[in-house]
Amino acid sequence: MALTEISQWRAWLHLFERSIQVEEKQGYRNIKGREYFFADFILSHLDNIELNANQASKVNRLKNMFTLYPLSAVAERREMIRETRQHLLSLGKQSQPPAEPQSQPAQTKVARNKPPAVKVSQSSEADWRDVPVQFVKSVGPKLGESFAKVGVGTVGELLSYYPRKHLDYSQCTPIAELRAGKLATVWGSIYKVSSYTPPGKANLAIIKVVIRDGSGRLNLSFFQRGGNYLRRQFEQRFPLNAQIILSGTVKWDKYSQGLTLDSPEFEVLGDTENADSQSDSLHLGRIVPIYPLTEGLNIKWVRRAIHNALQAYAPRISDPLPAALKQRLGLIGFAEAIQAFHFPLSEESLRDARNRLVFQELLLTQLGLLYRREQHNSQSGGLKIQTTGKLAQAFLQQLPFTLTGAQQRVYQEILKDLRSENPMSRLVQGDVGSGKTVVAVLALLEAIEAGFQGALMAPTEILAEQHFQKIFQWLLPLNLQTELLIGSQGAKQKRETLARLASGEAHLIIGTHALIQEGVNFSRLGLAVIDEQHRFGVKQRATLRAKGQTPEILSMTATPIPRTLALTVYGDQDVSQIDELPPGRKPVETKLVRGSQREQTWEFMRQEMDAGRQCYVVFPLVDESEKMDLKAATIEYERYREHVFPGYNVGLLHGKMKGQQKESVMRAFVKNEHQMLVATTVIEVGVDVPNATVMIIEHAERFGLAQLHQLRGRVGRGADRAYCFLVTDKLSEIAKERLQIFTQTQDGFVIAEQDLRLRGPGEFLGTRQSGLPDLLLTNLVEDTQWLELARTEARSIIAADPDLSQFQNRALKQEVYRFFRRHLSSLDA
Ligand code: ADP
Ligand code: MG
Repeated sequence: MALTEISQWRAWLHLFERSIQVEEKQGYRNIKGREYFFADFILSHLDNIELNANQASKVNRLKNMFTLYPLSAVAERREMIRETRQHLLSLGKQSQPPAEPQSQPAQTKVARNKPPAVKVSQSSEADWRDVPVQFVKSVGPKLGESFAKVGVGTVGELLSYYPRKHLDYSQCTPIAELRAGKLATVWGSIYKVSSYTPPGKANLAIIKVVIRDGSGRLNLSFFQRGGNYLRRQFEQRFPLNAQIILSGTVKWDKYSQGLTLDSPEFEVLGDTENADSQSDSLHLGRIVPIYPLTEGLNIKWVRRAIHNALQAYAPRISDPLPAALKQRLGLIGFAEAIQAFHFPLSEESLRDARNRLVFQELLLTQLGLLYRREQHNSQSGGLKIQTTGKLAQAFLQQLPFTLTGAQQRVYQEILKDLRSENPMSRLVQGDVGSGKTVVAVLALLEAIEAGFQGALMAPTEILAEQHFQKIFQWLLPLNLQTELLIGSQGAKQKRETLARLASGEAHLIIGTHALIQEGVNFSRLGLAVIDEQHRFGVKQRATLRAKGQTPEILSMTATPIPRTLALTVYGDQDVSQIDELPPGRKPVETKLVRGSQREQTWEFMRQEMDAGRQCYVVFPLVDESEKMDLKAATIEYERYREHVFPGYNVGLLHGKMKGQQKESVMRAFVKNEHQMLVATTVIEVGVDVPNATVMIIEHAERFGLAQLHQLRGRVGRGADRAYCFLVTDKLSEIAKERLQIFTQTQDGFVIAEQDLRLRGPGEFLGTRQSGLPDLLLTNLVEDTQWLELARTEARSIIAADPDLSQFQNRALKQEVYRFFRRHLSSLDA
């Protein structure tokens, strides 16, 4: 082997390593270099490497990975990089010169590489959308910098800098015809500007502006905080005699005994003399776009820039949607939609434009998710689990109850997955107590009957133990060997369990993270169930998967997410819902309680505890002041223990405690050694203490409804009547509405829908969950029918063309990549 070839390999590896390091430092964003995005950069190099057979399979694997990279969540990307490193390392070794001179030349033929300096491939996107925004006519470097502040760096980003709303300036009302209570648009000239500071409010200025048109005069009031400098700046936005357009709700002002507009939307059009008719046509007498602005970004400049960009580039906008699809759904073209969404000619064309853009963004999301899943499937090929179902039947027969309709349905859905060749990717959502465990056991029995082993992983030891106790009893009559594996077991016990697992003697193992540790070897793992899946990371799921020859994975969660949101958050999983509780469940009686009535709840708690039952008291924990809240919970705990409930056994549980510590407090509560638990929100999900009957939630208004629902689910698990008291002090109307909804229903899905409606998806989900693109236009509450439509269409496109490689889908595929990589900003792992 020539020395130069070895050094070329070194150069390759060095180059990869360098770009990987940068990518890692940037948080796996698929960063863009001078020419390529990271993944494309790696791909283009991999394409240029010449290989021997040995290396080819590894490099192909790498190519597959980097094809998926832009579509993957950050945690998955991290895994990919890790794997890449390993491959590169071994590729590097394989290309070392052979130590034995007799080894065959054919096998050691090393790639004759082109030099690592990449040639610019023609296929690299020299897309006009990547042209820097400053080159748009009327923009330039200075305004370009202001655009950068709002995330607009390129022409493409400029065109998708969508208006936050539109105002109809084509319908102006003469001042003389204004009526109180009506929304109106008024066009006049600025006549007078003055301001004053109301007594006792030094920091507030009220700016009064008078405008007039041919028919009369109108007063405007604006309120400005923050001292004289800002006040003067604000005043300067109203040059005398300038034309101004305003939009707002007309009010009757009792002081001036006249009509007024308070803080209307407004736009100053420059003074009449300089009016340039061409430019004003963008801002006058039509429906105008209102953009989010920032310092240095004036609305007219934004409009002008977008207008100019459209003029220059609209003819080059190609439509990614196949024509047949557009026609069938009655959607307008892409270029037309962008144009009309910025500068609509009528309300109707605005609506058509928005529909088209919303549909596209949802379709791209769904296609990306389904495509990603399709690629995973084709790479990991699932098991085919085919049985007569006799184990499951035997199990059902000896259960003391029959399945609910919902359990039945979800069981069937799972069976279908198991029997198909594709790997299962299903999430079962079901309210607390809806009976997910039984369904999971049914699935596990299928795998066992087919000759595989099953695993059930829970997030805490207590949960694992509870599952074990129940399931062990259930499976005993079936002659099945059920095992428990948790960290706190003794070494000898663990060793024996592991041996039975490796030999295949054990049929089912239940445990915590301990299941995915090294040294845990299955003889034939066929199905792994992950309970409370949101408590595990992508990585842990992947590790579990790697324990078998690609076992099937079934995830479960008790956190209900509205279907619309589930489709976007879990778009690449199938979602099954157990939306029905077993019969005979008594609702938890839920009441709003004022802080001043706290004493009564205490008295009530004493009665319950005297009758042998147990209580929870929960305090909120808000991120910004975590320490203070923690202190609050600790102080309250001391107070409860010493003053309010002396003589009772009170425990404390909070997020800062170590795992072991938490477990032991919970354990004491399970055993009724603590009669009462004062806790921050860390009360373990899914823990079953049937004897607990009272849940007190302090500052209930600070929790999301879904969270409240989770907390309430901790009680009402036994035969006794259960209660949930929401303690609040001051409540806004909205907060009251929220909490009232909560007191009136026990249905987790209804609550989740309401929560989503009231708080919006961002807050609802908390931190971003997966590598999903931002939706720029879609409103997940209101656009549900578009989401369903996009989902259906995406499914049928992928079903017909899983690789999106058919001619009519090429543009779509490119757009999917573009969409995911440009908007993927989630850095959460
Ligand atoms: P979760 O969905 O919260 O995990 P579990 O599976 O723990 O719910 O079930 C809650 C309780 O309801 C358990 O005691 C379980 O045995 C019981 N259960 C499950 N399904 C039914 C049913 N169809 N009828 C009656 N009880 C049921
Ligand atoms: Mg459960």
